[in-house]
Amino acid sequence: MSYINLAGKTALVTGSTQGIGLEIALALAQAGVRVGLHGIATREQIDFAREALAKHGCPESRFFPADLRDTTAIAVMMDAVQDWGGADILVNNAGIQKTVCFSDISADLWENMLAINLSAPFHTMQRALPSMASRGYGRVINIASVQGLIGSVHKAPYVTTKHGLIGLSKVAALEYARAGTAVSGGVTVNCICPGWTRTSIISPQIEERAKQLGCSEDSAIADLLKQKQPSQRLSEPSEIASLALWLCAPAAHNVTGTAIPIDGGWTVQ
Ligand code: NAD
Repeated sequence: MSYINLAGKTALVTGSTQGIGLEIALALAQAGVRVGLHGIATREQIDFAREALAKHGCPESRFFPADLRDTTAIAVMMDAVQDWGGADILVNNAGIQKTVCFSDISADLWENMLAINLSAPFHTMQRALPSMASRGYGRVINIASVQGLIGSVHKAPYVTTKHGLIGLSKVAALEYARAGTAVSGGVTVNCICPGWTRTSIISPQIEERAKQLGCSEDSAIADLLKQKQPSQRLSEPSEIASLALWLCAPAAHNVTGTAIPIDGGWTVQ
């Protein structure tokens, strides 16, 4: 049982069969939330995630498939979520990352990253926010990145989408700021901006650094952290989930339009 009680609420967490999304789904489940899972996943991954949710006390879970590059699939998913009761909590977590120098960015990579990391959150938010406003409670949590606050070489598409996601969230936060009350919890839209966090999305960068230096994966992680993250510690996905959960509490009704880093001091340098 969580220290925050969100019984009766329903969440859709995109990209939630693994990584940060799964930990957010589990934290919400522990707070009594019905959880809509989503992602590009095998039957085994979906079953594993649903079993984990049940063990965390989730009152009900369902998997909603949708390739986020496909706007029709997003619309079908959002209709299905609406038929399931509608999302009080929407976590746009699904994302892709690729390290590539500017001159080598293909049109496909650019379009796919924009579609998954930026356009998909726009479409899900546009569908979910009006019902949140009519209920007087709603939470949109967009998983951006430190790369939404600063730039890094070889990450143009990623940096562009994450900066865009923070801008989009600020405007939505303003437009829905007056919905609901402190008692109902209001409607808030926030971004979480993780630095290096232990999930498979960073594996290619770790492998590349290990190859460059001819060292172990642990030494490659230490080297990557030394360059950017002053705490020199990776974040765990469950730590990102703790902040997401707190943002869902009614007490967070006045926290909106923010982009909160969890980055060991990366962006204060
Ligand atoms: P991950 O690779 O484990 O998870 C990504 C999720 O996105 C998966 O569930 C995957 O199925 C889903 N996804 C990818 N392409 C999709 C598509 N076309 N349609 C539908 N779903 C799709 O990585 P993660 O680290 O858990 O990433 C979660 C979020 O956190 C991402 O938005 C990422 O940019 C952000 N982030 C991660 C880090 C980090 O260091 N791990 C740092 C900053 C931000």
